Amino acid sequence: MNKIILRNIENPNSHCIEEYIKAGGYKALERAVNEMTPRDIIDDINRSGLRGRGGAGFSTGLKWQFASLDPKFPRYIICNADEGEPGTFKDRVILERNPHQMIEGMVISAYALQSIRGYIYLRAEYPHVEKILNDAIEEAYENGFLGNDIMSKHFRFNLSVHRGAGAYICGEETSLINSLEGKRGEPRVKPPFPVNAGAWSKPTIVNNVETYANITYIVETAPRTYKLLGTKDSPGTKLFCVSGAVNKPGVYELPLGTPLREIIYNHCGGIRGGRALKGVIPGGLSTPILTPEHLDCHMDYVGLVQHGSMLGSGAIMVFDDTMCIVKIYERAMRFFEHESCGKCTPCREGTGWMRTILGRIEDGMAEMEDLDTLEDVANNVVAKTFCPLGDGAAHVLLAAMKHYRTEFEYHVKHKKCEAADPSQKWGQK
Ligand code: SF4
Repeated sequence: MNKIILRNIENPNSHCIEEYIKAGGYKALERAVNEMTPRDIIDDINRSGLRGRGGAGFSTGLKWQFASLDPKFPRYIICNADEGEPGTFKDRVILERNPHQMIEGMVISAYALQSIRGYIYLRAEYPHVEKILNDAIEEAYENGFLGNDIMSKHFRFNLSVHRGAGAYICGEETSLINSLEGKRGEPRVKPPFPVNAGAWSKPTIVNNVETYANITYIVETAPRTYKLLGTKDSPGTKLFCVSGAVNKPGVYELPLGTPLREIIYNHCGGIRGGRALKGVIPGGLSTPILTPEHLDCHMDYVGLVQHGSMLGSGAIMVFDDTMCIVKIYERAMRFFEHESCGKCTPCREGTGWMRTILGRIEDGMAEMEDLDTLEDVANNVVAKTFCPLGDGAAHVLLAAMKHYRTEFEYHVKHKKCEAADPSQKWGQK
């Protein structure tokens, strides 16, 4: 398959502008400013069917359309590079190895939305990436792709990097905007949405790193070519970052709709040590776990929903039969509790209680009624939180309890993990 995001990364200098230009880089921007109107670009992005690659999967073209209809100026273009979802490391590859494709996508977005100011909101835990991005931005200025007269077309767009302070919740767009403005990083009430009242209450587009890299390809080749990749409802490719019990973990660019089985057993070389597969989290920690029975599901925005999960960030975490589901979710809940911003009670208190009960089960101190209490707490968090963090934490726990109920019960009854008991068999080879 032809790669569109990771196409030149085998070149050790792929992050440098000379190599990027040699490989056809900044041709899409040239085409955009010379041959297209801002309206043409928005229409093309709409026609391409591109959906945001950060997790929510909202139509990028529609988002742009809403912002373009708002008469307020200035408008802001933000790249969400706050890649904090556990298990996710795919944007890092673009930022480290192909930053210009993302920057080019941002400049095209600025031209389409008539924006003069952009920010890359970078994850605090990627300090080395800040230098790569600052160097790439400087190169883009030197070559006339950023600044006050881009490609001698009197088109102005300035871009800089803003480092986050290490909060998971700042990956949510309104928290990110609050943080960028120097406020406490917690979500805002929606509506109004950022497309109408984002940064400094002005129309703001927040897209993910991978989304901007896709925009460059779409403008370079036209929506028809882009739609040849992926499925009808989920066009294009996706970066899947695979970790856990596979032989070849890593970042794979594959068409959307690729079966989960093909990713694990063909591209990633199967389960480490030839062990049995126990479960897979398909899109980052906030997406519900799947069992070996779901292996033939298609990894796209529709296929995973049909199986009770979500594509999320495309972070696939694979667990073999030696791993304890209770332990996994106790660790997960510790993360959610720690990252809860505390703004709403069901999430602030609920994640703490879910973690406490999971810890009791893990430590062999629980009674059977604790499982009912755990479910009850989770059900009282679902749909009662201000942003997706609390809701997601409860949802993923409920999915794990539904699919692995016997393992939770075994833990309570025998005060130890079923995965550690060789007489018990899980999953399939
Ligand atoms: Fe904060 Fe959690 Fe409420 Fe989101 S759900 S606003 S993270 S307390």
